[in-house]
Amino acid sequence: MTTELWVENGLVFTNEGFKKAALKMKEGRIDGLFDVNDHPAIGVEADTIDAEGCLIVPGFIDAHVHFNDPGRTDWEGMETGSLAAAAGGTTTIFDMPLNCAPSIINSERLRNKQEYLTGKSYVDYGLWGGLTADNLGNKKELEEMAEAIIGWKAFMSESGIDDFRYLSPQDLEQAMMLAKEHHKILALHAEWEEEVQKLAGLYKNKRGMNERMAYLASRPVSAEEKAVNHALELAAKYGTGVHFVHISSARNVERIQEAKKSGVHVTVETCPHYLVFNDQDFIKNGAVFKCAPPLRPQNEVEGLWDCIARGWIDTIGSDHSPCLYSMKSAASIWDVWGGIQGVQFTWLALLDEALKRGISLEKVLPLGSAFAADRFGISDKKGRIMPGLDADLVLLRLDESTIADKASFKFRNAYSPYENKVFQLRVKKTILRGKVIYDDVSGISGKKYGRCLTVGKERISG
Ligand SMILES: [Zn+2]
Repeated sequence: MTTELWVENGLVFTNEGFKKAALKMKEGRIDGLFDVNDHPAIGVEADTIDAEGCLIVPGFIDAHVHFNDPGRTDWEGMETGSLAAAAGGTTTIFDMPLNCAPSIINSERLRNKQEYLTGKSYVDYGLWGGLTADNLGNKKELEEMAEAIIGWKAFMSESGIDDFRYLSPQDLEQAMMLAKEHHKILALHAEWEEEVQKLAGLYKNKRGMNERMAYLASRPVSAEEKAVNHALELAAKYGTGVHFVHISSARNVERIQEAKKSGVHVTVETCPHYLVFNDQDFIKNGAVFKCAPPLRPQNEVEGLWDCIARGWIDTIGSDHSPCLYSMKSAASIWDVWGGIQGVQFTWLALLDEALKRGISLEKVLPLGSAFAADRFGISDKKGRIMPGLDADLVLLRLDESTIADKASFKFRNAYSPYENKVFQLRVKKTILRGKVIYDDVSGISGKKYGRCLTVGKERISG
C-alpha cells in the first residue's frame, strides 16, 4: 500500500494566497508544494488526485460542536456528527463538555469520554472541559483535566443542562484566575443571566405579544453586552485568555476588538447562523431556528459581516447543537430546545455568503483554519497547507453548487434551518492526514480515522 499521495492541477491556498501547485503528501503529512512545471517525478507507487478546477484549502476547524456523546446519542453522536462535519469539509472539531451525559466537569468523566470516543470519529477532535459552579472549588481535579483539554467552557447564563451550572459574576472571577493559572483559554457563553431572567419574566406571559417576539425580546444585545463587558474587565485584570463564543452583535465584537487592541488576550467567534439568517427567519419558522443568543435583525447581520471584512472576528464555529425533533415540537417556543443543527453547512454557508458579498476567500478562510489553529495551540499540526503539517485538505469547486436537501443530511436528526438552501460551491473531497475521508460522489470512506488531539498551552498572537 502506498503512503504517498499527490494532488495535482489545483489552486492551493498557501500562506501567500492561492497558487497553482502540485501538492505531495507522505505519511499523513504535507511533504511539499511544487511548481506545476517543475516538480519531481511522481513515483509509480504513488496515488494521484487530479484537482483540475478545484481550490485546495486547509481542512476546516470547527471549534464549537455538541455531539452529545456519550449519553445522548439519540440527539447526535460522534459517528453521525463527525460524518456530517467531514461532508462539509471539516477535518477537526472541538467537542463541548455539555449535552453529552454526564457533563465533563471532572477528570474521571473526561478520561471516560476520551476512552469511549476512541475509534468513533471520522475527523480529528479535541475536547473542551467544563468550568461550572459545581467544580470551581476543586482545584486538584481541574488541574488534572487542564492537561488534556483544549480549554475551559463556561456559561454566564443558564445552560439548559442540569449538571452544567452557570457561573455567577463572582464565580467568573475565580474561573478567570484558574484558567490563567492553567494557561488555558476560557471560552464563554456571554449573556447576562439577571437581565435574561428579568426580561423573560416580563415577556413570557405578556398578553397580546407574539411569543416568538417575546423570546427575542428576552435575550437582547444588551444582555450580551453586559456579559462581555464584565468578562473583559476580568480578563484584563487577570491576564486570562478569553474566547467569546457565538457573539451575535457587531457592537460587542467592536468592544472585544478594542480590548484586544489594548492588550487583553481575547478572541471572538461568531456562527454562520448569525451571518445568514435574521430574526424574521425565527419569527416565521420558530423552533428549528431557536438559539441563544437568538437570531438578530438584519442590521446586526450586516454589522457582523462588516466586522469580518475588517478582520475583527477570529473564528467561526457551527455551535452545532442538535436534539430530537420532538424536542423542537413543544407547544410553546419557551419550552423547545434551543440549538442550531448546521455542522455540515458551516463553511458552505459562510463561504457562499462571503462570495456573494464580494469578501474574498483569502479573508475568510483563515477563520476556519489558521486563526483557529493558532488560537487553540494546534498550529504545529493543523490550519495551514505547509510542509510538515497534517495533510488535512478540502477540495472545493466554485462552479458547482450544493443543495442542502434533507436526503443529504448526515447528522442524526434530519432537520436544519439550512434545509433547501443552495450554496454556490461544492465540497468535492475532504482529506484527513493524507486519506480521502469524504468524496462527493462515493461518499464517506467507511473508516473512522479521527484521533484525539493533544494540545499545547494557551497562546495568542498580537
Ligand atoms: Zn454551544
